[in-house]
Amino acid sequence: MIEFLASNALAYLIFVFILSLLVGSFLNVVIYRIPVMMKNAWQDDVDQHTKGEDHVSTRPTFNLIKPDSTCPKCQHKIRAWENIPVISWLFLRGKCSACKTPISFRYPFVELLTACLSTLVAHQLGFNELAFGFIFVTWLLVAMTFIDLDEMLLPDIFTLSMLWLGLLMAVYSPLMNAHDAIIGAALGYLSLFSVYWGFKLLTGKEGMGFGDFKLLAAIGAWVGWQHLPIVILLSSVVGAVVGIALMIKKNENGTLAIPFGPYLAAAGFLTMLYGNDIATWYLSTL
Ligand SMILES: [Zn+2]
Repeated sequence: MIEFLASNALAYLIFVFILSLLVGSFLNVVIYRIPVMMKNAWQDDVDQHTKGEDHVSTRPTFNLIKPDSTCPKCQHKIRAWENIPVISWLFLRGKCSACKTPISFRYPFVELLTACLSTLVAHQLGFNELAFGFIFVTWLLVAMTFIDLDEMLLPDIFTLSMLWLGLLMAVYSPLMNAHDAIIGAALGYLSLFSVYWGFKLLTGKEGMGFGDFKLLAAIGAWVGWQHLPIVILLSSVVGAVVGIALMIKKNENGTLAIPFGPYLAAAGFLTMLYGNDIATWYLSTL
């Protein structure tokens, strides 16, 4: 199987596409449930402080597996055939099979996005451990993007897994450089950390969260310190354009909190794939 995929480019791309569609379906669950699980854990912490150490939560089990997925409106249990990525949504015409409540287009969108981006990585990088690492990172970035959009949160479980995995890969893979990765992680963290404190000293406000520093550290580990300026430049440009567009659209009272994670994730992804091309293009236009 592995040899077949290694020698047959088309089969490899199709395999990555289908695998990532299934992963994207799971990411929909992750994006919704991880923040709920985090809030439950925080609530348990508060309860233990206020109601005593031996306080036990009576909340029903809620994790990535339990309870089964149901329609939020009518509690209809999602059956296996209703859970096929994209196809089920199309077949159900975007509605719950029991109560006809519309199912958000975001579910098939996340599945397709995960599949397309992962296939792009496989196509650009070929069949090697770096490509497999980047495909996994792509999945993490998709999850982080949507969780940050929904909740303004970048959970450690994603940022730190991406960071440690990048550093380990850099040590063991001849396709990466451990020196560049370690400096990249440290500089990535410190650069946003300094922006944060500078902004706070100047304005007294907090411009971003610690999750953003950790995400840029993780991206720095994967792209190397040389490419960090590209990541920062790309994320600021996209952030400024989208941010200004949002403010023009919405602004009444001046302040609008915009999660920075999605821009970092998009910039990190583009830099992973095209960092060298962007650097060459940039230097040649100077
Ligand atoms: Zn329903």
